[in-house]
Amino acid sequence: MSRLTMALPSKGRLREPSWQLLEASGVSPQEPGERVLQAHCRNADIDLLFVRADDVPEYVQDGVVDCGITGLDLVAERSSNVEVLLRLGYGTCSLQAAVPMEDSATQISDLAGRRIATSHPNIVAKVLGELGIKAEIVQVSGSVEISPRLGLADAVIDLVSTGSTLRTNGLRSIGTIFESEAVLVGRVGSANLEAARTLSTVLGSVINARANRYLMCNVEKSDLSKVTALLPTKGSPTVMDLANGSTVSVHALVPAADIWSLLPKLEASGASSILTLPVERMVR
Ligand code: AMP
Repeated sequence: MSRLTMALPSKGRLREPSWQLLEASGVSPQEPGERVLQAHCRNADIDLLFVRADDVPEYVQDGVVDCGITGLDLVAERSSNVEVLLRLGYGTCSLQAAVPMEDSATQISDLAGRRIATSHPNIVAKVLGELGIKAEIVQVSGSVEISPRLGLADAVIDLVSTGSTLRTNGLRSIGTIFESEAVLVGRVGSANLEAARTLSTVLGSVINARANRYLMCNVEKSDLSKVTALLPTKGSPTVMDLANGSTVSVHALVPAADIWSLLPKLEASGASSILTLPVERMVR
């Protein structure tokens, strides 16, 4: 089996989080730097190629590389014949339809017969077709949001993460047609697909871990059932006796998103010395 080749975004929104993910997974590039086009990985038989996120689906499909990181929207827009090996949990955004604030449209079906500017014409044509909406699609490659002001279109369908760009440009969202995030994709039929799946397991262990925290607290035995009933864990928590005989230490893995609401409840139920720690890796 030859070395695994992987394409990574060389710039743009997906570059930093993708590099951080490799770093956290222990397979960071040996020669980091803005201008490096190719690099070997420090601890793994992986050769990295740095290209634009837009180009990754084609590079993977055509066998230039075995796998790569890109946006799910870009895979769908190019109808690339690649396998999505792993959703990476960053670069999250959605393709939303938006109109100028003063427009009367309130839902996507109100765009029938109107002109819609987008840099994702294929996804838009497919979804509008499925919804039975006939509209004129105006393809633009950047600054989609200013199209209505320029008189190019009545509405836009554009990538939105926080919504602030829409608001800044006087636009109002009327619906979502596609949800996207960064993904690891592999070439269908690649001889190295097994190695790509192994990489996917390693990256996945870091992504799973990021979504969780290791929680520890001390509880009087009399309060134990109240405290464990609060824990949003799938498995059973670890309960260990402390030396004083009347107190136990409770350890559990809890979703990071639940921590802020959980801590005051734990405290109110008698937990003390509450600690939460980041988790480095997690293989289910
Ligand atoms: P780039 O053009 O290289 O910055 O990468 C754009 C990719 O980043 C898109 O194809 C999406 O997958 C992702 N992305 C995440 N949030 C946004 C956003 N708010 N606007 C545009 N792209 C986004």
